[in-house]
Amino acid sequence: MKVAVFSTKSYDRRFLDLANVQGRHRLNYFDVRLSGETAALAHDAEAVCAFVNDEIDRAVLKELAGRGVRLVALRSAGFNHVDLHAARELGVTVARVPAYSPHAVAEHTLALILTLNRNIHRAYNRVREGNFALDGLLGFDLNGKTVGIVGTGQIGAVAARILTGFGCVVLAHDPYPNPVCEALGVRYVDRAELFAASDIVTLHCPLTPDTRHMVDARCLRHVKRGMMLINTSRGAVIDTHAVIRGLKDGTIGSLGLDVYEEEADLFFEDLSDRFIADDAFARLLTFPNVVITGHQAFFTAEAMLNIAETTIANISAFEETGRALHEISVEKIADRPSPT
Ligand code: NAD
Repeated sequence: MKVAVFSTKSYDRRFLDLANVQGRHRLNYFDVRLSGETAALAHDAEAVCAFVNDEIDRAVLKELAGRGVRLVALRSAGFNHVDLHAARELGVTVARVPAYSPHAVAEHTLALILTLNRNIHRAYNRVREGNFALDGLLGFDLNGKTVGIVGTGQIGAVAARILTGFGCVVLAHDPYPNPVCEALGVRYVDRAELFAASDIVTLHCPLTPDTRHMVDARCLRHVKRGMMLINTSRGAVIDTHAVIRGLKDGTIGSLGLDVYEEEADLFFEDLSDRFIADDAFARLLTFPNVVITGHQAFFTAEAMLNIAETTIANISAFEETGRALHEISVEKIADRPSPT
């Protein structure tokens, strides 16, 4: 199949070329993000391959469908950036990579927790400058602390297992409790109890209308003062302005982010010779108790290979049968069993 592959870096090309055995598909790589301005680049493609910050709204899908595109193969698990209603109306199939390495994201979550707790980011700079003072570096034992996991799907379940290994008491909130977590001794509670009882809250739910700005001013009024908040899910699950206020008044003791609501204009690019125009993001960078990574939680060799192989498998299956292996549609989301 002819595939227009958007938002690609050298590492994407390397793994996709490896997975595209014997050059079965003609992969046409573009650096640029998919958007209304760039959709025309897919003029001779039957499929488009896209990533997390590509715009796949109604207008873009209409343009793609009009040019003969029948498949959008996402290189991500999250699909919040795709207008699935428009895709169905236009006859465009949407496929994703449902699980490529939950370990990659869960392990990165732990990296953020440990960095913030033991102030590794500050210690690293101090030691390089010959400053071996410990003031300001005091952490706490993770053992015995209560960690709340919002969303215990693939990633949340791995995070639960790792945190259990640290001796943490793990609470969870998910409309669909995961038996794997229950077997670990994870206790499912409602969202309010989770936020009220947890020393650390880590977010692993998708971005949906229900989870958009889940962590807002109202939520932060009922958390443990000084709690640690970690977000490796999607930026808009937290209200950045409310979180900045929470950091300023001490409600939030530390914050670890791998995602940011307005990340599309920042992440995945080297902007080091420019100033940051996003004032909220720039403000976050001023806090000593905030660590931000640029959407790299997924970025391990294992995950990249799995993403590439599943993406190519989706495209191959669609070419052969008219159905991708891991399709996502309005119906599929609605088909989930009732919450228990
Ligand atoms: P998953 O579908 O396996 O699990 C998501 C879980 O969230 C499900 O169990 C679901 O029931 C639950 N959920 C849905 N709505 C909820 C709500 N309102 N409250 C609580 N729980 C809710 O997905 P996953 O593979 O574990 O990935 C989770 C999210 O992590 C993805 O949606 C994606 O946004 C994000 N992600 C980030 C990166 C990264 O590099 N930072 C990489 C992969 C995925």
